[in-house]
Amino acid sequence: MVPTYLIKPHLQRHYPTVQYAKGIYVYDTNGKKYVDGCSGAVTANLGHGVPEIIEAMKEQANKVSFVYRSQFTSEAAEKLAETLNERIGGETRYWTFLVNSGSEATETAMKIAIQYWQEKGKKGKNKILSRWLSYHGITLGALSMSGHTARRERFVPLLEDFPNVPPPYCYRCPYQLTWPSCQWRCADELEEAIIRIGAEHIAAFIAEPIIGAAGAALTPPEGYYEHIQAICRRHEILFIADEVMTGLGRTGKMMGLDHWQAKADIIALGKGLGAGYTPIAATLVSEHVIEPIRNGSGVVMSGHTLSANPLSAAVALAVLQYIDQHRLVQKAEEIGSDLFTKLCRLQQKFSWIGDIRGKGLMLGIEFTVPDTKTMMPNKWAFTDIVVTKAQENGLLVYPSAAGNGKDGAAIIIAPPLTIERAQLDELVSLLEEAFHHIEKHFPM
Ligand code: PLP
Repeated sequence: MVPTYLIKPHLQRHYPTVQYAKGIYVYDTNGKKYVDGCSGAVTANLGHGVPEIIEAMKEQANKVSFVYRSQFTSEAAEKLAETLNERIGGETRYWTFLVNSGSEATETAMKIAIQYWQEKGKKGKNKILSRWLSYHGITLGALSMSGHTARRERFVPLLEDFPNVPPPYCYRCPYQLTWPSCQWRCADELEEAIIRIGAEHIAAFIAEPIIGAAGAALTPPEGYYEHIQAICRRHEILFIADEVMTGLGRTGKMMGLDHWQAKADIIALGKGLGAGYTPIAATLVSEHVIEPIRNGSGVVMSGHTLSANPLSAAVALAVLQYIDQHRLVQKAEEIGSDLFTKLCRLQQKFSWIGDIRGKGLMLGIEFTVPDTKTMMPNKWAFTDIVVTKAQENGLLVYPSAAGNGKDGAAIIIAPPLTIERAQLDELVSLLEEAFHHIEKHFPM
């Protein structure tokens, strides 16, 4: 075979070729079995090869897979929007705009926020604020909002400088404070940034309820988002929740933000919406945001050729039904709390596990220099070592970061929400074996 496949992110690394996958297991063409400890990229939330989803896919493909959304709507897309509103909306009504990836969902959220203010006659409100540790996607608009140094640095001349607010990083609080006496000092910096830049220039603040790729499940303390929401409202700025990783049950609540008493004006969904069965993502827009657009130009100025294709919509609908029928949100909470306890036990055994954090089945492990709280130096490439050793040992874990998206070492453990308790033990013992193996080679 002529090697022309350019999708691999690290061209120098050898990847196994996948053969098939079932439940929480993935098998390569050499017959090796892997426990999917991170649902791919925190995406395969139902596990692999679920017959109900495959059936829904076949049924829709037999009717129609694609129509152009400016010519037709489809039952699948309409029903999906209705179901998302039922599951997520509560008292707020959310309208759904379908796209194909998380980056498109956050970028669409950004555009809708800017358009909202334009339709209200406030044309200067076109900046977005975000946090220094965050990941909102790889396209230029989404990357402009992302505080992820490693992914930004090559493109800085093309990017807006949107990250302006510190993350809620309690393990390494920059103010050396602890919660609750800190009184959400880091959230107050949002207000300081708004005053410095001028609310008349700012359309929205975007945040991942629990920070994923750039922070290994960094979880704000109680009251944090209530504080953030109050600041946004006080200064007339929309609040966008990037739920691409945290949404649809992953954290043990339907939405990550449901762990706090706060509501977003716009929500970005991705990953778990198609659960890896199909590319689909969505931007959910609350009624009060869509109203001036509907009464104004009447057009959401965004969209892609494959947006709202009936095939992906039918898959996402089947995924939502499966989540409900199998009580996966509750399951993520229950099993996640077991997994948290098991990871804390591992922490007692390895002096270089600094912090365990997260909620439900989105848990992060931050590594430190042994016996200290010092971040793993970059030159050790420690995250890579852990990911590679775990994979050699038959366990897939998600590389993450601590620090500024480049320094520090961390991973995310996020198995499918369908994982059984016995399989949890299998996952943790594979992880422990990999850790023992790594420890033998200390110091790096
Ligand atoms: N937002 C968050 C929180 C993410 O974790 C990701 C992907 O990791 C994205 C957006 C971008 O999604 P995608 O890779 O589907 O474009």
